Amino acid sequence: MPATTFELPPQYAPHEVEARLYDRWLEAQAFHARADSPKPPYVIVIPPPNVTGVLHMGHGMNNTIQDVLIRCARMRGREALWVPGTDHAGIATQNVVERQLAREGKTRFDLGRDQFVERVWTFVRETGGTILKQLRTIGCSCDWSRTRFTLDPAYTRAVREAFVRLWEEKLIYRGHRVIHWCPRCLTALSDEEAEFQDETGALYYIRYPIEGSERFLTVATTRPETMLGDTAVAVNPDDERHRDLVGKRARVPIANVVVPIIADRAVDPKFGTGFVKVTPAHDANDFEIGQRHGLDAPLIMREDGTMGGNGGSADGRMGGSRVPDGGSADGRMGGSRVPDELVGVDRFEARKKIVAMLKNQGLLEKTEQHQHGVRHCYRCDTVVEPRLSDQWFVRMKPLAEPALRAFHSGEVRIIPERWEATYQNWMEHIRDWNISRQLWWGHRIPIFTCTRCGEAWADRADPTSCRKCGGPVAQDPDVLDTWFSSWLWPFATLGWPDETPDLAHFYPGTTLVTDPNILFFWVARMIMAGFHFMGRKPFSTVYLHGTARDMQHRRMSKSLGNGIDPLDVVQLFSADALRWTLIAGSSLGADIVLNPDDLETTFAPGRNFANKLWNIGRFVLAQLNSGDGAGGGTAGARWAAAKGDTVAPPAELTLADRWILSRLQATIREVTSAFEQFRLDEGAKRCFDFVWKELADWYVEAVKPRIASDASSAQTVLVYCLDVSLRLLHPVVPFITEELWQRLPGRAAGELLVTARWPEVQSRLIDERAEREFALVQESITASRNLRAEYKVPPKIRTPFYINPPNEEVRKTLDDSREMIILMSGSANMVLGPLPNLPGGYAVLTVGAPAFVELEGFIDVQQECRRLSGERSRLDQQLTALAAKLSNENFVSRAPADVVAREREKERDWRFQRDVLDGKLKSLGCS
Ligand SMILES: [Zn+2]
Ligand SMILES: [Zn+2]
Repeated sequence: MPATTFELPPQYAPHEVEARLYDRWLEAQAFHARADSPKPPYVIVIPPPNVTGVLHMGHGMNNTIQDVLIRCARMRGREALWVPGTDHAGIATQNVVERQLAREGKTRFDLGRDQFVERVWTFVRETGGTILKQLRTIGCSCDWSRTRFTLDPAYTRAVREAFVRLWEEKLIYRGHRVIHWCPRCLTALSDEEAEFQDETGALYYIRYPIEGSERFLTVATTRPETMLGDTAVAVNPDDERHRDLVGKRARVPIANVVVPIIADRAVDPKFGTGFVKVTPAHDANDFEIGQRHGLDAPLIMREDGTMGGNGGSADGRMGGSRVPDGGSADGRMGGSRVPDELVGVDRFEARKKIVAMLKNQGLLEKTEQHQHGVRHCYRCDTVVEPRLSDQWFVRMKPLAEPALRAFHSGEVRIIPERWEATYQNWMEHIRDWNISRQLWWGHRIPIFTCTRCGEAWADRADPTSCRKCGGPVAQDPDVLDTWFSSWLWPFATLGWPDETPDLAHFYPGTTLVTDPNILFFWVARMIMAGFHFMGRKPFSTVYLHGTARDMQHRRMSKSLGNGIDPLDVVQLFSADALRWTLIAGSSLGADIVLNPDDLETTFAPGRNFANKLWNIGRFVLAQLNSGDGAGGGTAGARWAAAKGDTVAPPAELTLADRWILSRLQATIREVTSAFEQFRLDEGAKRCFDFVWKELADWYVEAVKPRIASDASSAQTVLVYCLDVSLRLLHPVVPFITEELWQRLPGRAAGELLVTARWPEVQSRLIDERAEREFALVQESITASRNLRAEYKVPPKIRTPFYINPPNEEVRKTLDDSREMIILMSGSANMVLGPLPNLPGGYAVLTVGAPAFVELEGFIDVQQECRRLSGERSRLDQQLTALAAKLSNENFVSRAPADVVAREREKERDWRFQRDVLDGKLKSLGCS
């Protein structure tokens, strides 16, 4: 074998290595899972990113965690499948293309539905899949042969099947109710998509004249513009103050309509004045009051948020599937309740105008500042408008029951556990799901209505005529909520509704890794869908990780401009450095804080660790080179070839050998257990500590003097330790570990670390005695090093070192490691016995052994004595002053207690320092 096999370039060049290795893994089909494998499966489905999305730090974190888990499972002998794919992301993608059109001065209505959808497809074909390529750059080991898209034909069939089944089970119904409407996206939203934000608004107190009297009643509202749609004023029936008015009528100002005063228990008598305006078409609670009292529900706002009747949106199109104009009690249409000067005016502008009009008419009693939650569109942040509308809903209670049961029985776990209560609470109070969206991009709702006889049904195929009368049919114009397709992800990606081998082998999955933000949107619904359509849970464990935040703890986002592009990090450092920071920097379920203004400090630890690993690798491989000639023939090579853990280690092991082998077993155990418990940071840091602090700082240093001559044990142990460390580190930093592992001797041709076996603990290598003894040796060396550093002994000057062992066992341990201690502690020799009465530095080891470094003749002792005496008298003066302060009654009684406590603490600290100085002066023999 040529010697160059073991020579590594002095600098690690990640960019060349990472691209080359990723291709090599692909070529070897290392990420491909086989449905006919006898191995137990381990399955993760990716949270599908938006098809037109680009990688941000949230993806970086989410996917690195998944990759660590999947790589670990693969090495541990599971048939590991990580299903990748993208989501068509209805609103988000449609928004992007609409913005493009806006730049051309057009709207989607200018293009028409078919042309618009074609345009979105063009955009998706051009940009879609970018994010999946970016995932390769950061090392994700997805099975790309199984990549799915929520709008591909097979997936579309799955969505349609799910819809039709729910329809047949009577779990889908048409609901006429007030829903959340985004006037910018022009679509309905689910409860989850309309997110609450705390805002400071105003509470307006408005006077409504009471008919047939000179009196007024006062209602309080945060949205005065909705008064144009009032069809009643309500009070609580138990409210003594207003009982006499029930049955009378009030005039709604500006709208100038007369409405009844009614009693309803839904009214909170403590809110405002106890009078509540009732606007059934623009408030969900009012709608229910309206239903109970047979009130009309006129719409007074258009879909785009401007004032006016239900004449469609600003562009004049009709409301499509929305409700017709309700008309009001006095027979007038909703539109005519809006005064001419307000027609077409935006709702917030209208609010100001109405408030001004009320003020002019003396009908605005007062305005108060008001703190309240306002719902915003989760896609565009526009304030959501409650709006009466006809939408398709899924009855969720029957779906939630099995999902809740599985959670109670522990069949599905959520980690960290603190999320379980949130999940449970949402599931127990689940509301029906509005699944229709007034968009064009997405799965069109497969409901067909006969325009002749009115028959309506859900169909798996597109019918050409009415199934009842043969008349012409029209399909519902709306599309399904994007989450209605992604809730099928764990089985639709595996071929459902067909009974495919993939579905049989890989369902249910194992782990789901996601951000807690989509616990309800996605996770809970997937669990419900899994039980409903598959009869089984979709996965056993949900791991909810934290969020990437900036130094001010703000979520990293494009709009805030505080994000870090993961690809920049790869470019500047490496994929491994990115991954290292993301994994080592975030503990179980906790947020990770990254500094976008200082990438160097943020990601240098990962790069530095890679370099350290590289240097250790270089050292080890260089030793093999100088071993018994061909390197590949050393005992180390033979042992590594046999995978280390199945054959006995060499017989003649030194204390250092036995110690590092034992520490390695502990590392294997701890890392494996940490990864099993999703404590990825702890696993990564344990590996780091082993490689850096134990292997590099101690073992490599300890064996350096003997390694060239001692091929039998040191080389073998080094190769074994490096081999196992690379295996343990591979899931976190896959590239550098594979690159180094490829250079280790004794592998079979074509063998790759990515599919190598996870190390197992060899209990016969656990050696508590070696750990105890080596700890003593380490402590001796450290004691000498510290003393030499304290007295500034130059590194080249070697000093006599004394230890007085308290017993024979300690003496023997130290004596056996004499050479190592002398060499590593920078000593001239080591004397085991009583300490001499000479000037020097003094310490006590934990076993009770005094240790001593002789200094006379090695440093200028007189000068050190002067320095220490000077320091001591300064400290004495400070102590005297402090003692005077603390004995002063004035200070002690008047100063705040914490100030006094701090001063007393300082006094104790200085006294201790003075004792230390006294000890030093004494041991140096200063007069
Ligand atoms: Zn919106
Ligand atoms: Zn018909």
